[in-house]
Amino acid sequence: MKLYNSLTRTKEEFVPNEEGKVNIYTCGPTVYHFAHIGNLRTYIMEDALVRSLSYLGYEVNRVMNITDVGHLTGDSDDGEDKMLKGAKREKKSVMEIAQFYTDAFFKDCKALNIMSPTQIQPATGCIPEFIHMVEKLIADGYAYEAGGNVYFDISKLDKYYVFGEHNAEDLEVGVREGVEGDDNKRNPADFALWFTKSKFDDQELKWDSPWGVGYPGWHIECSAISLKYNGEYLDIHCGGIDNAFPHHTNEIAQSEAYLGHKWCNFWFHVLHLNTTSGKMSKSKGEFLILDTLAKKGYDPLAYRYFCLLSHYRKPLVFSYEGLDNAATAYRKLRTRTAALKEEGEIDAEAMTKAKAAFAEAIGNDINTSLAVTAVYDVLKLTVSEATKRALIADFDRVLALDLLTPLAKEEPNEEEGDPEILAQIALRAAAKKAKNYAEADRIRNELAARGITLIDTPKGTTYQKN
Ligand code: AMP
Ligand code: ZN
Repeated sequence: MKLYNSLTRTKEEFVPNEEGKVNIYTCGPTVYHFAHIGNLRTYIMEDALVRSLSYLGYEVNRVMNITDVGHLTGDSDDGEDKMLKGAKREKKSVMEIAQFYTDAFFKDCKALNIMSPTQIQPATGCIPEFIHMVEKLIADGYAYEAGGNVYFDISKLDKYYVFGEHNAEDLEVGVREGVEGDDNKRNPADFALWFTKSKFDDQELKWDSPWGVGYPGWHIECSAISLKYNGEYLDIHCGGIDNAFPHHTNEIAQSEAYLGHKWCNFWFHVLHLNTTSGKMSKSKGEFLILDTLAKKGYDPLAYRYFCLLSHYRKPLVFSYEGLDNAATAYRKLRTRTAALKEEGEIDAEAMTKAKAAFAEAIGNDINTSLAVTAVYDVLKLTVSEATKRALIADFDRVLALDLLTPLAKEEPNEEEGDPEILAQIALRAAAKKAKNYAEADRIRNELAARGITLIDTPKGTTYQKN
């Protein structure tokens, strides 16, 4: 299997440390809000990787953390804990919102057929492991205490910027616009391993440590959790490309300093889902979640299909037009594949040939769009329906698009109303609220053209089909 490695910036032959077994670590969600569909793109493509490895015969041990402490509003050490920010927004405790958004995340994963990791570990459950790691880094001379916090000293490494040609000055905390420097640091790019002093005194979750009562930095959690469940030699580390710096760079620095040897061989980074105005991000406040798509009538698996059509190493621009095209194609495909009957003899030769083409697609750096094309190729074969069915069942182990399950008939619930029309009504209401009357009129006219009349009442808008 060939896999692109962000560390070497080349496509390499994938060889795990232990024959037949793959240890994978995935940066899990920061559970202060819903995962947006950009985050979910990353998890869908990581799922395609995991399923491809299993398809190709590897036993996969996949570990994922849940970030419920330590991820600050700046991806470096500046700002407030994102969890605390979320808790304030919703007037709940940090643990309440952590539980709520963790559940919401796994609900989305289920709807998208994303397999559950072998091990899921909330960061707040591994405090002793983080403390142990920081203690050893101090003892070995890689970390130091200053002003109540513990920092990693990047000058102790031969090479810190491992992912490509960073312009160190641009990236250093304290140099970037709007970020205050931290006088405690020996080098501007040093990063915090443990905080006891922060500008944000209302940090909710704190633990006792040899350096005083405080909380861990974000980066240390992924290193320690991976070491605990994946062992000292990691085969593949995954995440979205925004995490390459500083998060993954810092993970490598502290893990290798702690271990005294190379830690992870392959780095699998998924490029971003962008909107027409830039990266989709939670902190910008404007983001789409899976639930919104579902309320608009999109099958979550149509979103999975939309993602699989693009390579994970290319940025993907989200538009409703693009999603509509994907949703239509997906419905048509599934209607055809699910209708295949268990009829005729299995053509073993055709099976072997088609499976080889599929394995080649996923074995070439997880080429999911070619893997989807392989399904269309099967439909064109002159073989029995039973053969086609067997092949599609086999490919669906990786694609996970429920291709053999008939689509549920869409019958709008008369009492609650058609979800798609209700979503349009909600969009029109939002447009009116934002004084975007042109958009509100456009929605009304579009519905009218479909024979749907909107009726505005003091209690809200209802509709009537002509
Ligand atoms: P977070 O919940 O912010 O910790 O992010 C969860 C995952 O989503 C990480 O792997 C991020 O790198 C990734 N991610 C964040 N924004 C995007 C985006 N717009 N497109 C794809 N992945 C993203
Ligand atoms: Zn991480």
